[in-house]
Amino acid sequence: MPNLFHNANAQKTDTSECFYSEALQVLNCSDLSINFSNRLKKGWRVSAKDYKRTLTLPSYFKDAPRPVVQAVISWALLPHFNRAKNNKVVKSQKRSFEHIIKEYISNSDGYEKRCRSDLSKIENLSQGSFYDLRQIFNSVNNSFFSGRLESYLRWGKSDSRTSYHTIRTDKSGVDFHLITIAGVYDSPIVPEFVIKGIMYHEMLHIAIPAYLKNGRRVVHSREFKEAERNYPFYNEWIEWEHRNMHRLIRIKKQKRRKKSYLK
Ligand SMILES: [Zn+2]
Repeated sequence: MPNLFHNANAQKTDTSECFYSEALQVLNCSDLSINFSNRLKKGWRVSAKDYKRTLTLPSYFKDAPRPVVQAVISWALLPHFNRAKNNKVVKSQKRSFEHIIKEYISNSDGYEKRCRSDLSKIENLSQGSFYDLRQIFNSVNNSFFSGRLESYLRWGKSDSRTSYHTIRTDKSGVDFHLITIAGVYDSPIVPEFVIKGIMYHEMLHIAIPAYLKNGRRVVHSREFKEAERNYPFYNEWIEWEHRNMHRLIRIKKQKRRKKSYLK
């Protein structure tokens, strides 16, 4: 196998470096190499020379979970250097990958590391100041999945806006599900049908796993979307988000400002 990892500090036994080789193999691309840079903190880039691309990532991306690795590689393989980069579909695909990548970056400092060291600590992050995610999960699990799904749960940072599901690997090499719910929803103004709708969406990612089609990862398949609409409060939930998200984000920002002022 070609040496994809140019960083001298890279350890060959690292599981997620396997995710990189795995993703490159699955996507069948031999003309992409990956570089890790200690200088990059919140950004990443792709460059091209002689039809070969180089993807440069912050060095902590070596520990990125599989979906993030797949997202960043898929992103790098999209058109970046010709007119096709302006194509509507390409742009929207890029945005959805960037969404996954940025969420990982924003959650990456110490927080992630702390979780990885001890699974039981993740569970401590499931109790928010208003909603207890374990309680929400159990209720949705019993109502829609006959109680058969299992996942670790945690709140994201208090002003994070994106919820996501990832498959993580513990120290002994066992995969487990982890659902992270965006911190903005931990608020008394958020109705229970909204938080349950979000949880239901993330749980569907466990029930209906993503699959590869023509080299692309299909995450929200037709089957997924149909199942999502089975949520009895689907319309109310989407409508609520539409009307209230701005307000919710504003409230969270004000709270944060007050906190830093008090310090
Ligand atoms: Zn989703």
